Amino acid sequence: TTFASLGLSADMLRALARAGYEKPTPIQSQAIPPALAGRNVIGCAATGTGKTAAFMLPLLERAATHQGGIRALVLAPTRELAQQIHEYVDTFGGVRAALVVGGLGMGPQTAALRKKPELVIATPGRLIDHLDQRNVDLSGVEALVLDEADRMLDMGFRPQLEKILGKMKGRKQTLLFSATIDGEVGKFSAKYVNDPVQVEI
Ligand code: AMP
Repeated sequence: TTFASLGLSADMLRALARAGYEKPTPIQSQAIPPALAGRNVIGCAATGTGKTAAFMLPLLERAATHQGGIRALVLAPTRELAQQIHEYVDTFGGVRAALVVGGLGMGPQTAALRKKPELVIATPGRLIDHLDQRNVDLSGVEALVLDEADRMLDMGFRPQLEKILGKMKGRKQTLLFSATIDGEVGKFSAKYVNDPVQVEI
């Protein structure tokens, strides 16, 4: 497969070439077309497989066509992972994004959220802090990514995830990535991810 055959835009294909991505990894080949088509996706893939680009490329394409409010949200278990995901915004571009993670000051994050970025990349605990302070409105979020969902559930974030999901009444698409899809993450996705395309590598 080639990136061009997956339905990505010419701008994105140029950004991929600049970044030195020559061809899609298996998870990218399988997840990008349904994600671009608006389907829900459950991706069973570990770190190192190219899973981050598998959800970020479709998300950046779709969020880029919008303006005036948060359209997409990525949740990740740790600050480090959220920061790595945020780097894809600079590499592949097209949207304004706010990084909302613990261990950094609330003030600059609040300012970034007030600018109504198209995309927010967050850890669950810190996003809840901003929700509680009414710094962020998630009602216009159409696309949600749960990265390393198994780890988020293992870390005890289920109540936070459910509270966040409850604020996203306009959610149309969910992309859930996890190293395993058994046990708790299986039950969670059965409840919150309707009619998904399952991708396993
Ligand atoms: P991930 O599994 O998302 O943590 O990605 C692992 C590494 O592979 C990252 O450094 C990516 O930048 C890189 N990568 C992802 N997809 C591709 C690709 N199609 N071609 C070359 N490098 C890639």
